[in-house]
Amino acid sequence: LTRLYVPLTALASARLEIMSALVSFERVFEVLDLKPLIEDSPHATPVPDGPVSVELDAVNFGYPSADKVSLASLEDVATLDRRGGVEVLHEVSLRAEPGQLIALVGSSGAGKSTIAQLVSRLYDVDSGAVRLNGSDVRDLTIESIQRTVGLVTQDGHLFHDTIRANLLLAQPDATEEQLWDALRRARLGDLVASLADELDTVVGERGYRLSGGERQRLTIARLLLKQPKVVILDEATASLDSTSEAAVQEALTEALTGRTALVIAHRLSTIRAADQILVLEGGRIIERGTHAGLLNADGRYAELYRTQFADDPVTPAVIAENLIE
Ligand code: ADP
Ligand code: MG
Repeated sequence: LTRLYVPLTALASARLEIMSALVSFERVFEVLDLKPLIEDSPHATPVPDGPVSVELDAVNFGYPSADKVSLASLEDVATLDRRGGVEVLHEVSLRAEPGQLIALVGSSGAGKSTIAQLVSRLYDVDSGAVRLNGSDVRDLTIESIQRTVGLVTQDGHLFHDTIRANLLLAQPDATEEQLWDALRRARLGDLVASLADELDTVVGERGYRLSGGERQRLTIARLLLKQPKVVILDEATASLDSTSEAAVQEALTEALTGRTALVIAHRLSTIRAADQILVLEGGRIIERGTHAGLLNADGRYAELYRTQFADDPVTPAVIAENLIE
């Protein structure tokens, strides 16, 4: 039985990717004889057409404790999630109108990634609602949510499969040219072209080992191919050195343009461009406003700005400049 725990732990952390590929998702769960946490409701409909707004309405959420997970093949489910049941988000409300960029900031553990996962419906809320284009995500098909929402995370999870297969997950009908174009825009074209098997190179633990930054660029290439209506970037460039970051920034900016976006940012330039900045602390939104407004308020955001974004320190001149903007 102990042998099962290893793949299960890996599975938990790979869930983002598993969820993004329903086929593999079902296959993995079939093999392990597990029931997925989230399933389509019997009356589920696709995400309504048109530009998509994103809304969290008084959301309370704690990660599911073991008793909420149906595990047919495990006796001791408690080992799966020792922290289960603790509320992580409290009365969180936010709204991104179609095309708006919302930035989430806050210290580690504040709940930022949790919000990203709820919008992608990797979990369901305990109370309140998450809505896409006005519809509760619980009434929408998982397949259409996955088509609508593109999530890039810090660790860039990939399947142990070819680069081509990893890219086609995002856009099954993509042409060869589109695959290369996305790779080039994510600044990965030269590397892939230099590999003997090019797009057919198997990546992952037992294949070609991509660095953290390369994995992240591959997930960014996937986002560029997918062109989802809603883009969520969860510290999407955190694994990149500053040169690669500058290089993919253009592609990311392009991926965000005209889309509804939720950006969990560690770069000041992205945050400053946001229509609204939300400051999260201990699972609550404690401040919201624009960059200039929040600096002026001199609260938690101003403090984070001084500490986390110290490469661009707040001097009286900077404050003055931002107040003028
Ligand atoms: P942030 O992204 O702001 O650093 P997270 O949303 O990742 O914060 O985490 C918020 C809280 O939820 C933290 O206390 C964290 O330990 C907890 N948490 C995160 N992921 C899980 C999980 N899969 N199971 C249980 N608790 C989790
Ligand atoms: Mg996080």
